Amino acid sequence: MVHFWDYEFSRIPDEGVAVNRQGILFVMTGASGVGKDTIRREILSDFPNLVYSVSATTRKPRQNEIDGREYLFLTKKKFEEMIRRSEFLEYAEYVGDYYGTPTDRVVRALKSQKDVLLELELSGARQVKKAMPNAVMIFVAPPTLTELERRLRGRGTDTEEKIAKRLERAREEIRSAKEFDYLVVNDILFEAVREFSAILRAECQKAEKMA
Ligand code: ADP
Ligand code: 5GP
Repeated sequence: MVHFWDYEFSRIPDEGVAVNRQGILFVMTGASGVGKDTIRREILSDFPNLVYSVSATTRKPRQNEIDGREYLFLTKKKFEEMIRRSEFLEYAEYVGDYYGTPTDRVVRALKSQKDVLLELELSGARQVKKAMPNAVMIFVAPPTLTELERRLRGRGTDTEEKIAKRLERAREEIRSAKEFDYLVVNDILFEAVREFSAILRAECQKAEKMA
């Protein structure tokens, strides 16, 4: 029998997490334009143990997007080669392009007790939940579809045709919200960031996650 005084729950300096905890996989899903990137940018500096998994895509880079930072921008040929070699944890077609999560970095980070955040559209999120049932699934919803449309237009990154397709997908995705563990409505940004952070903090403190 091991007595409680044999244990020491120490913290990683400056990171505030118990050392002997498994890495947690977080999946954030929500319609394009709902504010996922914005929320992520706000929270990352508060969670030094959390790494964002940079996805691969065949979509063209937007202004200010840098290869390797926002996405790994790949040709269709290269992406399909990676599919054939089973190098994706999940992948999906979204509004005419491929998006996928390369497996190697995610697995490496989790093994080294890092928490990992994925931003995925619905079918990718479902694939991850199936492959890794312990993943924590968080859905981000807009206050209204009208506001979502306003944000998509305001971002100024998509053509009218693409905006229409993204809104069509959004309607579908919002209907699936109940499949997720948590729901955050991104109406007022700082409230949504606070709620999202509270979910991460609570999950990181779960006793069952202690290794
Ligand atoms: P996503 O990553 O989900 O596609 P973005 O983070 O790019 O969405 O946000 C889309 C647009 O909406 C951006 O112009 C962003 O500044 C804006 N935005 C994000 N959150 C809010 C909010 N709570 N209120 C108003 N505008 C927002
Ligand atoms: P965007 O073109 O706006 O950057 O992304 C379009 C959609 O693809 C968003 O819903 C985004 O969350 C999703 N997405 C980004 N990366 C991945 C990925 O690796 N896999 C999947 N399935 N979806 C992704």
